Amino acid sequence: GKSRKKRPEWLRSQIPGGKAYKEISDIIKDHSLNTVCAEARCPNMSECWNAGTATFMILGDVCTRSCGFCAVKTGRPVQGLDWDEPNRVVEAARLMDLKHVVITSVNRDERKDGGAPIFAETIHRLRDEIPGVTIEVLIPDFRGIWDALQTVLDAKPEILNHNLESVPRLYRRVRPQAKYDRSLELLRISKEAGMRTKTGIMVGLGESPAEVFELMDDISRAGVNIMTIGQYMQPTKMHLPVEEYVHPDMFETYKEVGESKGIEHVESGPFVRSSYHAHKHLEPSA
Ligand code: SF4
Ligand code: SF4
Repeated sequence: GKSRKKRPEWLRSQIPGGKAYKEISDIIKDHSLNTVCAEARCPNMSECWNAGTATFMILGDVCTRSCGFCAVKTGRPVQGLDWDEPNRVVEAARLMDLKHVVITSVNRDERKDGGAPIFAETIHRLRDEIPGVTIEVLIPDFRGIWDALQTVLDAKPEILNHNLESVPRLYRRVRPQAKYDRSLELLRISKEAGMRTKTGIMVGLGESPAEVFELMDDISRAGVNIMTIGQYMQPTKMHLPVEEYVHPDMFETYKEVGESKGIEHVESGPFVRSSYHAHKHLEPSA
């Protein structure tokens, strides 16, 4: 089947290793934290961790959703909010000497607040304790409960990221519990609140270039500043198959088209993930 398709030359990934890599895994483990790097089996772990970049995943490690591409455990979280988690993130970020911290989370759809208060608390604590730190949050859609979104917006992260993940036609398979229009609305509201906004998609899930261009029109209209485009890679055989390995030239085309449509910065390439080179997108045209 398609899932057994051989990876092309440009997708051979590195085996995680190195000194900094080991130090970071120890810090993460010692602070009972989760990273999306490890949970999502990101192919850039070696590069990012050795460069001192990691993406913390807060609100636990059990997600109430079951996106077809994602390796995070699905279930009903047994615990409430962990108010010590922000402290552990700050401590780990300090030990890792991070200047730019990226924070994402599982979805906590069992809660009305979606866990937003922990996002806000983490942002505030990082600001208070690490002078000059910049913060990017990659947030869930909060089921369209915009009060929860507002809690995050009020904490004023430097970058507000919410991934569309794929084109609307594929949502039933890729993001069954999400809605394309609701996610676009989240990006629009965040822009109106003055945020620097960011979104990302994976390609190779069966979308056509025309559909990607349409999505770019939508996000350009929503005022999104930054877009990431990367190759989908099947984390296990239980996940959606790869329909196509998109050629590096096509990634280059996506970047050119996206930027010509008015998206300020498009990071596009086989290994691009939403947090890849995140620190470069803090300033316009960085
Ligand atoms: Fe982690 Fe993002 Fe780097 Fe992947 S690209 S290793 S998720 S920081
Ligand atoms: Fe994974 Fe996020 Fe989907 Fe949960 S909501 S399954 S963490 S992609």
